[in-house]
Amino acid sequence: MDQNGKRVINYLRISVTDFCNYRCTYCMPPGGIQWLPRTDILSFEEICSIVNAAIPLGVDRIRLTGGEPLMRHGIMDLVKMLARLPGIDDIALTTNGSRLEEFATVLRESGVNRINVSLDSLRPGRYCEITRGGNFDKVWRGIEAAHSAGFGIIKLNVVVIKGINDDEIEDFAALTRKYPFEVRFIEYMPVGPTELSNRFTHVSAEEMRNRISALGQLDKLSDDSHGGPAERYKLQGAGAALGFISAMSHRFCSSCNRLRLTADGRLLSCLFSGQSIEVKSLLRSGAPPEKIAEAVRLAIESKPMVRPERCSSFMSSIGG
Ligand code: SAM
Ligand code: SF4
Repeated sequence: MDQNGKRVINYLRISVTDFCNYRCTYCMPPGGIQWLPRTDILSFEEICSIVNAAIPLGVDRIRLTGGEPLMRHGIMDLVKMLARLPGIDDIALTTNGSRLEEFATVLRESGVNRINVSLDSLRPGRYCEITRGGNFDKVWRGIEAAHSAGFGIIKLNVVVIKGINDDEIEDFAALTRKYPFEVRFIEYMPVGPTELSNRFTHVSAEEMRNRISALGQLDKLSDDSHGGPAERYKLQGAGAALGFISAMSHRFCSSCNRLRLTADGRLLSCLFSGQSIEVKSLLRSGAPPEKIAEAVRLAIESKPMVRPERCSSFMSSIGG
């Protein structure tokens, strides 16, 4: 919120590809989805044009996501292009970590400031099952490589799903006593076609906190400077924080600062909203920068204050 109590939309999540090398059970069907044709995917120049239009409207933070962002060919070039744009203070990346070992150093050098790694289990066998083929040890080496490359706080995103990985809540919380990695528990959200999302049930952040409290005192931290959606705590004896993102049990729409850009050039003002504003055709028809800015402004102005009921798109297509 600004000093007039107005919601500030300063954070743009950019999906750089809908493609992913994993097939997480809660995110995609086993065979993947119908990938976008290459020609439908925004070029780096097109992405930068949209970011340039968004900067004067208040956007100063970017997160690259996907699909798997590190599967997009030449991603470092995009990072460098974004890092050169005056007005962008922060470039973050959310990754499944499968290619982090090879890319950590160059990501840091190119201009990424922060990294979130999705890690839904600490048990290699289960990790492989959830991701349908992911290699836990490789991802862990990637996390360590990111740490060695100088990324300050590395955040580990855990989507907690009843009966799938909720028996690991305490193990994940205990990790913050041993490593400088912030663990963020995310309530599973029923996004995607119902035949996928109806199979899973979220665990409320409150239940997670109650269980973690059995490990020691859990102290609430004051909001971090970036005003993200996580409520942050610190477990007694831990160096790193624990975050809880309670999109299901406690909706935070009125303070949500995000806008999303899909890989095929649509602006979404809300993860749950089926409605989007198409910018790719504007760009490709040679529309002037003012027209692009108008589209971004429209997306910002259409951001709902309460959450729409359902989103039937795959999370990997929207960017998570
Ligand atoms: N592939 C990258 C990764 O997994 O980190 C980036 C894209 S992924 C869609 C972004 C985030 O969305 C991941 O942390 C993933 O766990 C999360 N996610 C996917 N489906 C979700 C769901 N239904 N509810 C909550 N989080 C979800
Ligand atoms: Fe891929 Fe990320 Fe979806 Fe898993 S959560 S399938 S890694 S996009």
